[in-house]
Amino acid sequence: MTSSIFKACVFGNPIEQSKSPIIHASFAKQFGIELEYTRRFAEPDGFVDSVNAFFDDPLCKGANVTMPFKHDACAWVDSLSPQAAHAGAVNTIIRKGDKFVGDNTDGYGLVTDLQQHKVCLQNKRLLLIGAGGAAKGAIPALVDAGVSSVCIYNRSIDKAQALVNDTNQYKENVASLYNSNSNEFDVIVNATSLSLQGSLPDLPTTIFSHKPAVYDMVYLFEPTAFLKHAAQHGASVTIDGLGMLVHQAARSFYLWFGKQPQTNEIYEHLRSLAKS
Ligand code: NDP
Repeated sequence: MTSSIFKACVFGNPIEQSKSPIIHASFAKQFGIELEYTRRFAEPDGFVDSVNAFFDDPLCKGANVTMPFKHDACAWVDSLSPQAAHAGAVNTIIRKGDKFVGDNTDGYGLVTDLQQHKVCLQNKRLLLIGAGGAAKGAIPALVDAGVSSVCIYNRSIDKAQALVNDTNQYKENVASLYNSNSNEFDVIVNATSLSLQGSLPDLPTTIFSHKPAVYDMVYLFEPTAFLKHAAQHGASVTIDGLGMLVHQAARSFYLWFGKQPQTNEIYEHLRSLAKS
C-alpha cells in the first residue's frame, strides 16, 4: 500500500527567498510524514486564482501566506480564528473538510521566541514599532502574554491610531500612541520592514534608556541595523526574527497535522547557514 503524500505551500510575492520549505521538510521528517511543501508565486491580483487552483487537490492540507497576500487570504477563507480576526491578516490556511479556516501564527511565533530567550512579558511595558500585518498579528499574543501596556509608533500615524483603537477593543486601555515623553520601555519590538533596507525608525535613542530587551522581526545574515543601534544605546539583549519564523511555522504545522514539532535543530541549522 502506498502512503499519501500530503501537500502544502507558501504563497507570496516575492517568494524565492522563503525558508518555509526547508523548515516544514524538517518538521515532517520528525513524524515520518510525507509532505511536499512548495513556494507559490502569485501576481499581485492573482492570489485567489492561485489558491483556488492549489486546493483543487484534496491532498493539500493547508498553506502559509506571506506578503502581500495576508489580507487577501483573510477574505478568501470561510472562517477565521480569533487571532486572525483580530489581526485582519491570515498567515495560515487550514483545510477542514470542504471548508477553509484562516489563522495567524505570527504572534505565537514572536511570544514563543521571546520566552525562549527568557524575555519576561508579564506586567512589562512594550513599545511596538510598526502598524502593518505583522504588528497587528503580534498584539493579541503579546496582550495574552500579560504585557501591562503597548505603546505604538508608526511612520503613518493614522495607521498607528487605528491599531491603538483596535487593541483597546481587545483589552481596554492597554494601548496608547507613542509620544516623545513616553520612553520607559522594558521590551521593544520592531515590526517594520526598515531593517531590510538597513534603515532605522525615526525615534530618539532615549527609548533604550531603561535597558529594554529589543526584538527585530527581520532576520539577516548579521545583526540588523536596528539591533546594532539598540545594542549601542543600552539594550540589555537583542534578538532577531529567525526564531519567530521557526515558531510560527511550527504552529502552522501543528494546525495542519495535530503534531507539535521540535524547533531547535532547524533553528540551529538556519543560523549556521547564515554564518557560513
Ligand atoms: P507591512 O507591509 O504590512 O507593514 C510594514 C511596516 O513597516 C509598516 O508599519 C510601515 O509603515 C513600515 N515601514 C515600511 N517602510 C518604511 C519606511 N521607509 N519608513 C518607516 N516605516 C516603514 O509588512 P508586515 O507587517 O507584514 O511585515 C513587517 C516586517 O516584519 C517585514 O520585514 C517582514 O519580513 C517581517 N516579518 C517577520 C516575520 C518572522 O517570522 N520573523 C513574520 C512576519 C513579518 P507605514 O504604515 O507607515 O507604511
